[in-house]
Amino acid sequence: AVEVEFPGHTRVMTISNQKGGVGKTTTTVNIAAALASLGGRVLVIDLDPQGNASTALGIPHSADTPSIYDVLIDGFPISDVVQTSPESDRLFCAPSNIHLAGAEIELVTQVAREQRLKTAIDEYVREQETPLDFILIDCPPSLGLLTINAFTAAEEVFLPIQCEYYALEGLSQLLGNVKMIQKHLNPKLHLSTILLTMYDGRTKLAQQVADEVRSHFADEVLQTMIPRSVRISEAPSFGQTVIAYDGNSAGAIAYREAAVEIVRRSQNDAGAAAGDTGEE
Ligand code: ADP
Ligand code: MG
Repeated sequence: AVEVEFPGHTRVMTISNQKGGVGKTTTTVNIAAALASLGGRVLVIDLDPQGNASTALGIPHSADTPSIYDVLIDGFPISDVVQTSPESDRLFCAPSNIHLAGAEIELVTQVAREQRLKTAIDEYVREQETPLDFILIDCPPSLGLLTINAFTAAEEVFLPIQCEYYALEGLSQLLGNVKMIQKHLNPKLHLSTILLTMYDGRTKLAQQVADEVRSHFADEVLQTMIPRSVRISEAPSFGQTVIAYDGNSAGAIAYREAAVEIVRRSQNDAGAAAGDTGEE
């Protein structure tokens, strides 16, 4: 087994890409499960009204299930809505449900409407006896108040990129949005991680897209790429991540390798920070 050490503080990442169908939800749940399999404590916040992340984690999310809607609109603490995934006692989910579809509109008239998720997360992090290692927020594809809440609550933007035509389309828009949020709402927000997904090494195009992304974002792109894999796309219909569904499949192995990279990067960051303070 791979040895990784979790530094004992909570990293909050929002998995974002203004395009739909690029693998945001798939990446959120599989990275979360992979981090839990490495020993991390991980909370997934499902901020997409479609509730696909909740489904993939095996979490009930019917209309009467307490959900992230109650947190955002009625001020419930996150602890009132969190469920533990059947896959792991270190993997948690604050589910979405159908009510969240209306939240985008309802938030408009709320006090501190951009900060509501951040306030709830800060409180939840503070009350943990054993710290969470990661909070991963699965965003809807649009830049509405739900996504703005995620950008305000997170420090890190995690961008999955599909290795196909137009992969870079919308990227400058995303970076522009990150800048805008940095300036007005959350100075700490930054693009920390890019993961190339649905990679098919047999096509020249996939290689070209991967090379192009790496040339622009050398520091952010993970070495690991997620292959296009039927096992990955099948897993959610069993209410499972690919880590639980077929842990030896190429997709599961790739997601675990990506998770190891993500944790190691935090160790490097921590090391760099410690080095800084150690200087005269
Ligand atoms: P998003 O959340 O960005 O809309 P999803 O994660 O829902 O995207 O993925 C879109 C579709 O692509 C889903 O049907 C999913 O099962 C499929 N998919 C995602 N990643 C892979 C992969 N690596 N291999 C095969 N299918 C994938
Ligand atoms: Mg999604």
